[in-house]
Amino acid sequence: MRIGVLALQGAVAEHMRSIEAAGGEAVAVKSTEQLDELGGLIIPGGESTTIGKLMRKYGFMDAVRSFSAQGKPIFGTCAGLIVLAERIEGQEEAHLGLMDMTVARNAFGRQRESFETDLPVKGIDEPIRAVFIRAPLIKEVSSKVEVLSTYNDEIVTARQGNLLACSYHPELTDDYQLHAYFLNMAVEAAVAKR
Ligand code: GLN
Repeated sequence: MRIGVLALQGAVAEHMRSIEAAGGEAVAVKSTEQLDELGGLIIPGGESTTIGKLMRKYGFMDAVRSFSAQGKPIFGTCAGLIVLAERIEGQEEAHLGLMDMTVARNAFGRQRESFETDLPVKGIDEPIRAVFIRAPLIKEVSSKVEVLSTYNDEIVTARQGNLLACSYHPELTDDYQLHAYFLNMAVEAAVAKR
């Protein structure tokens, strides 16, 4: 299964390594033409305003929306989660606006700029090792969105059909369970198409 990692800005190489470790084939995606060959797409962490700007510049907004409309899975991590959200607190404009949820950027405040924890996630056997770096939180979700994990009663992992999002960086550790989960979403989507 070939999974693309959007390579405009952010933690690209780490996601590619994790996808390969989970048994997939990873591709760095720099142009929209590459999307056709993929079974799934990861939008990495980094800085959401910058990623959004570059996605608009290189035509990725409509291309990724149509990728999603074909039922192909998309996984947004940290800044990637912000890019997927329909609503961003304190901002007029969203980016892709695909997931029916409201997110708050940099939601942990200065004292907790970054930290690691073992996080139980619904549908995954063992708690996953999660690294939070100036992380966003999911403040509100519609009934279309399934909450997969919370941290201190705040939503940090969620899924809406073919869309998966987490507040943290799962690609910065040797725990590949969430990448394996996403890979499985891509396999299931490909089987459903046959
Ligand atoms: N704080 C960043 C943003 O708002 C996200 C941080 C990250 O991806 N590690 O875009």
